[in-house]
Amino acid sequence: MGKENITTIEMTFVNAFLVKVKEGFVLIDTGLGMHWERLETELISSGCLPDKLKLVIITHGDFDHTGNCAKLQRKYKCRIAMHNNDSPMVENGLFVKRKVRTLKAKIFILIRMLFRRKFVFDKFKPDIYLIEGQNLNEYGFNATVVHIPGHTKGSIGIITDDGNLFAGDIFINIRKPDIATYIENPGELKNSIDRLKKMNIKTVYPGHGKPFEMEQIARKL
Ligand SMILES: [Zn+2]
Repeated sequence: MGKENITTIEMTFVNAFLVKVKEGFVLIDTGLGMHWERLETELISSGCLPDKLKLVIITHGDFDHTGNCAKLQRKYKCRIAMHNNDSPMVENGLFVKRKVRTLKAKIFILIRMLFRRKFVFDKFKPDIYLIEGQNLNEYGFNATVVHIPGHTKGSIGIITDDGNLFAGDIFINIRKPDIATYIENPGELKNSIDRLKKMNIKTVYPGHGKPFEMEQIARKL
């Protein structure tokens, strides 16, 4: 699958990706609830009608990636797939405590606390639980699930057969390619990154910031 089949939907500071697959589309992540119009505009302009949306994949349970899942289930009657380990986050609106690596990220958390009423989260129940090594061919998507805990314990990446990684928040690219700024488990994060380094990955599509080449970050890890 070439890059022309991947549309990055930029929503303020977080990305979703609409991937053209065989006979339809797969959406990876969904932004915040307040991004609904931006998301739906992109679905419509890409020709992704409700019956064309084969699957919605969630890279991890954070509200800035899962904010439109409930609405998509209701309006598009689509199935939401994610790793079971993060399902308490979306079913109960549970926020997982994490270590924060940079001052900027600490300030961001503080701002979010002050404006928390703006981030009303619509809880939902996932339809499908994805596991390590799962093949997504049945959804017309030539890609595999890789379980990469660390940012959260249910974080997953999606690796297409031609080497694109939809990374969630294990990598970010705000100013330059970097590893996660919010970390639930540093040991697990390191193991996950070590595993990814050994895989055949060319381009990384992070949850935040622009896509970059894996070799840009691999030599620093
Ligand atoms: Zn995020």
